[in-house]
Amino acid sequence: MKFLSKLTVINIIMALTLYCPSAFAAEYTDTLRVGIYYGSATVKNLDLKSDDGFAFGIFKDREFIQISTTDCASVSVVPDITENVPSYHVDYASYSTAEEAKTAAEELKAIGIDAFTAYYKSQFHTMSGNYKNNNDALWAAENLAVKGTVATVSDTALRLVDGLGATLFVADDKTFGVTVYPKHYENADSLISISGSAKGTYRGGFECRELTDSAITVVNTVPVESYLYSVVCREMSPSWEVEALKAQAVCARNFALGRINYHKQYGFDVCRTVCCQAYSTSADQSQSVHTAVDETRGELLFYNNTLVQAVYSSSMGAYTESVENVWGTPFPYLVSVENPYEDTENVYNGKWTKSLTKARATEIMNSRGYNIGDVTSITVLQRTPAGGVLKLQVTGTNGSKIFERESCRTVFSEATYSQRYTVTLGGQAVYPTVYTYNGNKTSSVALSFVSVLGGNNTTTTLKGSCIAYDGNTKTSYTSTTTSGDSNTFVFSGEGWGHGVGMSQYGAKGMAMAGFDYEEILTHYYTGTHIEKAY
Ligand SMILES: [Zn+2]
Repeated sequence: MKFLSKLTVINIIMALTLYCPSAFAAEYTDTLRVGIYYGSATVKNLDLKSDDGFAFGIFKDREFIQISTTDCASVSVVPDITENVPSYHVDYASYSTAEEAKTAAEELKAIGIDAFTAYYKSQFHTMSGNYKNNNDALWAAENLAVKGTVATVSDTALRLVDGLGATLFVADDKTFGVTVYPKHYENADSLISISGSAKGTYRGGFECRELTDSAITVVNTVPVESYLYSVVCREMSPSWEVEALKAQAVCARNFALGRINYHKQYGFDVCRTVCCQAYSTSADQSQSVHTAVDETRGELLFYNNTLVQAVYSSSMGAYTESVENVWGTPFPYLVSVENPYEDTENVYNGKWTKSLTKARATEIMNSRGYNIGDVTSITVLQRTPAGGVLKLQVTGTNGSKIFERESCRTVFSEATYSQRYTVTLGGQAVYPTVYTYNGNKTSSVALSFVSVLGGNNTTTTLKGSCIAYDGNTKTSYTSTTTSGDSNTFVFSGEGWGHGVGMSQYGAKGMAMAGFDYEEILTHYYTGTHIEKAY
């Protein structure tokens, strides 16, 4: 059960970002930038460890431009400040290539100057020293073995230091910052471990930028396929059938490549949370996940030439939902289909019953700004052909509010895990329904009582239960009372999540029944096909 609680549901944010790119598989990048520390969760410095040593430089146009390497097993990225003020350095020369700067720094070291490379004013430089004021730096610039000028860095410059505190590299550039890879980064199994709340071991490199003063944004620059190892193991249990894992891998690849630059205000594509896709350290990975990713390498799902928005959620009940009934805009491949292989009864949050008091419903409505007074009823006004709630009316002592589509799930999210539910108020009588046909149309009547006309012209009123006899069988109908008290709404439903696209538990069931990942994907995403991007 522990794992199941980690199953994540791609949520409403995705709804707002449905897109219609027209593109071919070949246009997609194989490198992703994943946000690790950003926004309100930046770090003051970052410690990195690698048994392999490190290569460092800048990350530009999704390419790592290496300036130099170190055999140190631990390095740190820190703000380039000395005694709390931006540093001053001696600047020797600028170069248009990283290679030239590296060679020049080595030549300076050979004659006794403790030089390092820098990226400063959009060029590669050789520099030395960390001075807290212009005068100290100026003195050094004029008196060291090689004369230089003073470089005054901005307050968002970063410094890469080795385990002994010696400067390896300075980057004074908000766009590029400092990027660190394992020394042999061409080897996909070279790993880096980092400090902080997301501490652990990762593939790829780390790009650090100080977008604001003393707050380092950290981005994992990682091959898409390596990224997927860390996503698939979080989105599905690695113990599931490999064909289900492969379907998940293709969905996750589609999703990630559909979100290039999604978090561009922080300079990355996808974040590590369920806002995008849950992403973890390499520790959670297993062989089955690697197999699923490797065997679908570069494969993407297309509808004609459009990259499929491969949304998925945990479970969905008997049918998946058409996307327009959830997020409003129709997509030809996100239409309702049967979901017969999902073992809804037995999966985590597959079938559920939750209650909500009138007082709590009132509180929720008020907190959302709907001032309809005390909530008295919650009624499903309209359902989708697949059985989901399309319109939900909440009535109070002071008015009513109608919710549509996804908000029918999210408005009372503490009581509803999906859009497929019924809602009843406790303690209410439910009468048998009879259907009458007048030759034109069928009407239903709730049978709260039955009046029987007796032979002596007296009428008897029967309540509670009655028996219908069609000449062959007798069927008895009984009035019932909804469970619970009359101040509590009871929501009963099936499925966990938005209900659009692939059901993860449905994919598991299909894989167990012998379907392969392509059959799973084309079942849930109507009219689609797989293409290899790289
Ligand atoms: Zn995100």
